Amino acid sequence: MYMYQSTRSPAQPVRASQAIFRGLAPDGGLYTPVDFDSMRLEPKEVYSLSAREISVQTLKRLLDDFSEDELREIVEAGYRDKFETEDLTPLAEVAGAYVLELFRGPTCAFKDVALSLLPRLVTAAREKLGLRDRILVLTATSGDTGKAALKGFEDVPGTEIAVFYPQGGVSDVQRAQMVTQTGSNVHVCAVRGNFDDAQTGVKAIFAHEQEHGWARDAGVRLSSANSINLGRLAPQVAYYYKAYADLVRRGNIRPGDEVDFVVPTGNFGDILAGEFARRMGLPVGRLVCASNANRVLTDFIRTGRYDRRREFQKTLSPSMDILVSSNLERYLFLAAGGDWKAVADMMEKLRAKGVYTAPESVMREMRRVFWADCATDEEALEVIGRVFRETGYLMDTHTAVAWKVMERYRAEEGGGRPAVVLSTASPYKFPAAVLRALGKSAAEDGFAAMDALFAETGAPVPAPLAGLRDMPVRHGDAVGKEEMLEYIQGIARR
Ligand SMILES: *Cc1c(COP(=O)(O)O)cnc(C)c1O
Repeated sequence: MYMYQSTRSPAQPVRASQAIFRGLAPDGGLYTPVDFDSMRLEPKEVYSLSAREISVQTLKRLLDDFSEDELREIVEAGYRDKFETEDLTPLAEVAGAYVLELFRGPTCAFKDVALSLLPRLVTAAREKLGLRDRILVLTATSGDTGKAALKGFEDVPGTEIAVFYPQGGVSDVQRAQMVTQTGSNVHVCAVRGNFDDAQTGVKAIFAHEQEHGWARDAGVRLSSANSINLGRLAPQVAYYYKAYADLVRRGNIRPGDEVDFVVPTGNFGDILAGEFARRMGLPVGRLVCASNANRVLTDFIRTGRYDRRREFQKTLSPSMDILVSSNLERYLFLAAGGDWKAVADMMEKLRAKGVYTAPESVMREMRRVFWADCATDEEALEVIGRVFRETGYLMDTHTAVAWKVMERYRAEEGGGRPAVVLSTASPYKFPAAVLRALGKSAAEDGFAAMDALFAETGAPVPAPLAGLRDMPVRHGDAVGKEEMLEYIQGIARR
């Protein structure tokens, strides 16, 4: 079955392997399911399954040309010895809500869930397509994707990876995680600009290669590890099912009850996986989209007007500091019932003018499922301090943004459904901000802050972060945004 088509041109559907191998569609659109009828997964089918097996079953529905055995091998190998718990993504009960901990992987942020599988999905896709080319993965990161991608691709045969991060736009700890990465196939480079500059630069490299073919001539295929790749999105559907199964198994809900999910959102990938789960048959009530001061999604969902022409704000939840949420394009395509012309038109307006207005029918559909709000840094810090004092549960700044928005959602909408807050990073990844939330003055650097946070809370420091400070720096490259292309061409031609 050919289940995926580009959001920007008439149906020329491709199979999942092609969508994963290519990343972006040739027209610049994103591969999106044509319909979800063949992808149904009844919740009751997963109640008795382990987290890994739930991952296999969700992937089997989403990736039409991968066999169940093949997926089981990818899932087992991808997650083996990498996560803190067998459970992969534990569900904690905190003060009348549930926290889905997505940060128990090798880099302590939720992107590990998908990026542990992506390299294996990409190399399996290459085999299916009968190709031999070297795969060069390009990634722009606002902090967490970079390390998780490096870790996932480290020394995977036939692949190379290059990660661009905004200089000064990631935390000390995030930077240390990236520049100490080992592996003979990894490149890490700072960009003098912000995350949008880095992401725009990566998109431009793909477009340039599309037109001129310099990578192909060198026997290299450019691929993407950003959340626009279907291989990033698909593995994220599993934890929505897993959280739901946990609630049923523990007797917190009855089978069939609806559950709300509150998602700290940047590129709209995490929350879109929730929408996929809903369309596959999971009883999702509302998907609550939580933003920080970069409230472009809050404004969009409320007004129908997407306007990126605003000042980029650096916040204490940097992985959500985004003005162009790439995966929203996929949602627009779904909500518009596959109207690629409407999507192409909106994306062209966004590119040319920085603003577009979505059709009323799209917004009606969106508001039926999505609710949006935002929280400031001060509000997030207040939440961290208060929840820790009252319950002993320590959360990071991204999770705190979601928590605050959940409180407003409950106050304004009620609904009475159980709420699951997706927790996307360990508090130790942003220790200075978390310390400040606890009323302590910030320490010298990220590592001193980790020590101080441990002294203050006694919460265990995750092993991958604890060992970081003794590792040697291996990567010191830095370029201007207009030099990114040249940097990649250098790698491709090597
Ligand atoms: C990437 C990231 C997010 C945002 O997820 P999207 O899929 O981009 O919406 C939120 N929190 C953390 C810690 C992240 O790394």
